[in-house]
Amino acid sequence: MKTYDTVVVGAGATGLTCAWRLAEAGQDVLVLEARDRVGGRLRTEDHNGSDFEIGGQWVSPDQEALIALLEELGLETYSRFREGESLYVDAAGVARRFTGEDLPVEEQTAKEIDRLIGVVDDLAAQMDPDRPWEHPQAAELDAVSFAQWLDAQTTDAEARDNIALYLGPAMLTKPTHSFSALTAVLMSASAGSFTHLVDADFILDKRVVGGLASVPAALAERLGERVRLSADVTHVDWSESGAVVTVDGEQIATRNVVLALPPTHVRRIRITPELPAEHRHAREHQSFGLVIKVQAEYDTPFWREAGRSGTGFGPWQLVHEVYDNTLHGKETGTLVGFVSDLNADAMGRLSADERQAAILASLASYFGDAALTPRTYVESDWQHQELTGGAYATSFDVGSLTRWGAKLHEPVGPIRFGSSDIAGHGFQHVDGAVRMGTRLAQQLLEQPSL
Ligand code: FAD
Repeated sequence: MKTYDTVVVGAGATGLTCAWRLAEAGQDVLVLEARDRVGGRLRTEDHNGSDFEIGGQWVSPDQEALIALLEELGLETYSRFREGESLYVDAAGVARRFTGEDLPVEEQTAKEIDRLIGVVDDLAAQMDPDRPWEHPQAAELDAVSFAQWLDAQTTDAEARDNIALYLGPAMLTKPTHSFSALTAVLMSASAGSFTHLVDADFILDKRVVGGLASVPAALAERLGERVRLSADVTHVDWSESGAVVTVDGEQIATRNVVLALPPTHVRRIRITPELPAEHRHAREHQSFGLVIKVQAEYDTPFWREAGRSGTGFGPWQLVHEVYDNTLHGKETGTLVGFVSDLNADAMGRLSADERQAAILASLASYFGDAALTPRTYVESDWQHQELTGGAYATSFDVGSLTRWGAKLHEPVGPIRFGSSDIAGHGFQHVDGAVRMGTRLAQQLLEQPSL
């Protein structure tokens, strides 16, 4: 039986980056992907003659590994439209206009928001995102939910709800009572600072011409026949000297295995001998957040004509944030909004028509009745896809980052693990996937037996 140097399971950005770096270095590599396409959480779909990015799409200036890869692959970027006034829908449902980064709230609340951003920035500055469990306050921050921690920091409800929005619904896509303050600090440190996360012009800076899914597509093209689709890996049998990977009953021998999967999906594979208990605990305490990404395309970007940027925030709105998502070179106008965590649960219980009506009504609280009648309406549905199961990514239960976080990175025999979900820099982002894929390839190339 032929023996590969490395079998990579999963053709998302992590797996394909890893495989391409290994192939470039001369390794005999095979990528096995369960779906009939590459890209994982990166996907562009055609609806009604327009391209819609269903998964990841934005690139920010701190995402240096991704930016370098875009350059290497010859992919161009363009800026998100952001000229004009933004909107803030307050707790009473009133849309207030503003420019710049400061929300149109009472002066006292604005100062409190700035103070809280500073507190999280200070905590993030003390963290190496690759080792969040080594933060000087790791134990105490991991022992409380972010909601509890935030309640203890301020009595200003509007300031609290806005800070909660940035890290809960907008980033980790979980209710703030379900993740720890340490995970909130990790999310901030992974982007350089909390200041970066709250600055939409920074964190949602650029898009890729042709879509971010062009990255996995270009890598897969380079890998050619080394990528096999519709190959759902069911078993990995390993010893210290190598492994046998099973797909559809076919057995494939390899010296190394990279499971380039969200931690939740390692459990779908029967690994023999089974992983050490702590490795299983670590992955059992990591779970997907939930967000519905909604895009509505209109005949024109009508908000621009009214002097609006298309950017809007509403911590109490069903659609808690919205942006101009008009496609490069298109005359139509597209808005993208997000419905997250508990709101996404509630929307999931409605019929498709009821959900669309509720979501468009929320868009109308930002942009008026013109938002009610798009020519095309598209919801991204990752939660019903078994091979993903949520969005954007997975994060840790309260207390589990300090207990088991380090275990997620430890190889077991010839098996290594990686995905954006366990990245430090670029945690939960494509940049993190590229960094993980690159790091795993380096580790494999440096190991003495190869
Ligand atoms: P994945 O993309 O999940 O790849 C894992 C692959 O493994 C999948 O293709 C899966 O099919 C395959 N697989 C699973 N089990 C098996 C098996 N047993 N055998 C074979 N194959 C298997 N990031 C950003 O940087 N910017 C954004 O704007 C952004 N927005 C997002 C919006 C949405 C709606 C979503 C869902 C994500 C977003 N992200 C964004 C996150 C980003 O898309 C992910 O972090 C990144 O794509 C994850 O890459 P990955 O390779 O680590 O994992």
